[in-house]
Amino acid sequence: MTLHELITQAPKSDIHVHLDGSLRLETLIDLARERGVALPSQSAAGLREQVFKPVYRDLTEYLQGFQYTCAVLRDGEALERVACELAQDAIAEGVRYMEVRLAPQLLVTRGQELGGVLRSVAAGLARAARDFRASAAVVSGADMPFVSGIICCAMRNFQRGMSGYYDALLDAFPSMPHKQIVALASQEMARAAVASRDRDGLPVVGFDLAGEEAGYRAGHHAAAYQEAHSRFLRKTVHAGEAYGPESIYEALTLCHAERIGHGTWLFAPDRIASAAITDREGYVNALVEYIATRRITIEVCPTSNLQTMPELGGDLANHPVRRMIERQLPVAVATDNRLVSHTTVTAELCRVADCCQLDAAGVKRLVLAGFKGAFFPGSYAEKRAFVAQAAARIERLAQRSGHGNK
Ligand SMILES: [Zn+2]
Repeated sequence: MTLHELITQAPKSDIHVHLDGSLRLETLIDLARERGVALPSQSAAGLREQVFKPVYRDLTEYLQGFQYTCAVLRDGEALERVACELAQDAIAEGVRYMEVRLAPQLLVTRGQELGGVLRSVAAGLARAARDFRASAAVVSGADMPFVSGIICCAMRNFQRGMSGYYDALLDAFPSMPHKQIVALASQEMARAAVASRDRDGLPVVGFDLAGEEAGYRAGHHAAAYQEAHSRFLRKTVHAGEAYGPESIYEALTLCHAERIGHGTWLFAPDRIASAAITDREGYVNALVEYIATRRITIEVCPTSNLQTMPELGGDLANHPVRRMIERQLPVAVATDNRLVSHTTVTAELCRVADCCQLDAAGVKRLVLAGFKGAFFPGSYAEKRAFVAQAAARIERLAQRSGHGNK
C-alpha cells in the first residue's frame, strides 16, 4: 500500500470547510433553477469555465462564485439539502469528523432569525450521519461513525446589498460609524451561536471570523470573541492571509483563538508593520514557539491558499506548511471550499505528504492532527475515545501496508 492509498483509506477529518463554497455543482444549478437565481451558465462545464475555474487570478476572482452559492442558500430546504450532501460527499471519501462553517448573517433575508439557518444545517448534517450510522459497515464495526459540528462565522466586514440582515442593520443605525456596526454584527453573531447551542441544542462548536482580512484585523472583533469566550464557545480565526504575524498574535491574545485558519504568513517577519517590534525574527520565533507549546492547531488549506495568494506562485513548495511541520506545529489539512477549490481532503493530504516528503509516521501525525484539533460536540472523554478510535484504525492500516509504527 502506498502512502496515497493509506491516506485514501484512513479515517480523515475536515475542520475547515465552508458550506457555501462546497456545494455540488449540479445542486447549485438545480437550486438556481427552482429559485429563479440567474447563473452565468446552465451547465456544469460552462460554470467551471466561467466561475469555478481550475486556476484563479487572485482572491477577488476566487470569491466570485460565492454570490451565486449564497443566493441559492437563503431558505431552510436548500440549506438542509446542501449540508446533507456535503456530509455525504465527505463520508464517501473517508471523512469521519467534519466541522462545517458558515456565516448565517449572509444567508438570512430581512426578518428571518439566525438560529433558523443553523437548525437547517444541523438537520442536514444529522440526516447524513444517521443514514451512515445505519449502514452495514458501521453496524458491523468495520467502520467508525461520522461526527460533525458547526462553526459560526462573523464577517470581518460587509456592505449594503450583501444580505437582508446586513441591510436591516445598516438601516437601523444610519449614523453609526461603519467599523462600529461591523463589530456590533459580529457580537450579535456570537450571541446567536451560543443561543443555538444552549437553547436549541445544536452542535455549534465554534466561532470564527471570515471574509477579506484587509482593513479588519482580528483585534477589531475582540468584543465578539470575548462574548464567545465567556460562554465557553471554542474559537478559531482566519488570520495571517492579508496581514502577517501580528494578526496571528492578535487572534491568539485578543480573541483567545484556540486554532488559526491558514496562518500562511506566520513565518514572514517582513510583514510585521509595527515599528515597536525591532527584533522581527525574534518576534516570529517566539510566536511560533507559543503556537507549538500551546498546541494551537493551524488549519492549512493548501489548494485554496495557492489559488488566492499569487505570491505563492502556484507552488506548494513556497507555502510554509513544510516549515510548520518541521517546527512541530499541529497542522490539520483541510479543504476550505470543496467546489470553489475543486478539492477533497484526500487530495489535500496527498499534496502535503508529497511536498513535505512525509513518511508513514508523518502521514499518521498529519491525519490525526485534525481529529485532535477538533472542537467536538461532546464531552472531553467522548472526544478522547473518538480520536483513539481513529488513531487505532490509521495504525492498523499502516501496519497492514508495512508502514507500521517505527
Ligand atoms: Zn476559510
